Amino acid sequence: LIPVAEARERILSAQSLAPVEHISLETALGRVLAEDVEAARTQPPSDLSAMDGYAVRAADTDAGKPPLRLIGESAAGHGFAGEMQPGETVRIFTGAPLPAGSDAILIQEDAEAEDDLIQPTEALKPGTYVRAAGLDFRAGDIGLSAGTRLSPRHIGLLAAMNVPWVAVRRRPRIALLSTGDELVRPGQLVGKDQIISSNALSVAGIVRLAGGEPLDIGIAPDRADALADCAANAAGADMLVTLGGASVGDHDLVQDVLGNKGLALDFWRIAMRPGKPLMFGKYGDMPLLGLPGNPVSSLVCGLIFLRPAILSMLGVEQTDPVIRRGVLGTDMSGNDQREDYVRSRIHEDESGQQTLLPFPRQDSSMLSVMSEAQALVIRPPHAPKVTAGEQIEYIALDGVA
Ligand code: AMP
Ligand code: MG
Repeated sequence: LIPVAEARERILSAQSLAPVEHISLETALGRVLAEDVEAARTQPPSDLSAMDGYAVRAADTDAGKPPLRLIGESAAGHGFAGEMQPGETVRIFTGAPLPAGSDAILIQEDAEAEDDLIQPTEALKPGTYVRAAGLDFRAGDIGLSAGTRLSPRHIGLLAAMNVPWVAVRRRPRIALLSTGDELVRPGQLVGKDQIISSNALSVAGIVRLAGGEPLDIGIAPDRADALADCAANAAGADMLVTLGGASVGDHDLVQDVLGNKGLALDFWRIAMRPGKPLMFGKYGDMPLLGLPGNPVSSLVCGLIFLRPAILSMLGVEQTDPVIRRGVLGTDMSGNDQREDYVRSRIHEDESGQQTLLPFPRQDSSMLSVMSEAQALVIRPPHAPKVTAGEQIEYIALDGVA
């Protein structure tokens, strides 16, 4: 049995970066940048007013100075054309360019206006309420770096930088092949000894949340010829993921059959619960990940191994699951050699303190428990027993599984 971390490293080292494609900002949400992006312009392009008021020379606002003469207006998109002389002022609005000769904004609350005479009631320093040219960024600045997954705020920045399209990693195509004579798709006629296939759909969700594109290539019955034929449908994918059939039972064919068709197996047993029969290798040129068939094992191994593989194809820096710390709400006994991922609820008290509450039933077939779970509490191999109140490490499921 090989350790979880080593299995993940071996999987990650076999991945290559997905190719680059150019897409418009409108469709870029959630995509991952393939290159650093430079600002195509300076923002603001010139000194702008941050408030509604009057553009002034700060020196003209000192106590005892006479009222200023109003000579024009500067609005956003329509600057004042002339140049302000000492003793003059220009009405100005938020986002409008500062007239030549001015260096500060007198907000309207600090001005007494009578016809075209404006009396400041505050003395200003140069730069007051001015957004200097380049305050936000300058042309040529690197605004975002390769590997960034684009969020709404990143897209806002790219738009402001006048970058209408971006180079991103193509979504990794993940072929999902279910295996088993007992499986039918949801909504179809179900025979007496059959069950509904859930793994292809749940794991497709993990693929999507990671930024990949799932391709459901069907359900292969437990017959050698059928399995090999179905696997051929993965042509063109970046990775083949088989679901079930990964052990060495009489009906577990993935190793045997694909072995005859060019599967070079790296490993197939890991020290993990759920999910001992995890398989990884190369099927021809294509990385092949064999996830266990039990629905909870499929999901957990999808999260622990497949998601990082997809993130690595996308060039994201943080590929491994984010480990958080919380307090355990119940006692747990010592662990054996398999790293445990314990389905748990998160209880949050009024102060925001999080307590992890493992479910008493951890059978890897129980999707009802998995669906209610908010976290996987991690129990390293041979971890000693822990009591309620002790710190524990966990992975949050929200947003990833
Ligand atoms: P296997 O790894 O093929 O031995 O499957 C282990 C268990 O998971 C068996 O009880 C299977 O019926 C079940 N199983 C396998 N594939 C799926 C699937 N796609 N959806 C739901 N359950 C599955
Ligand atoms: Mg099976």
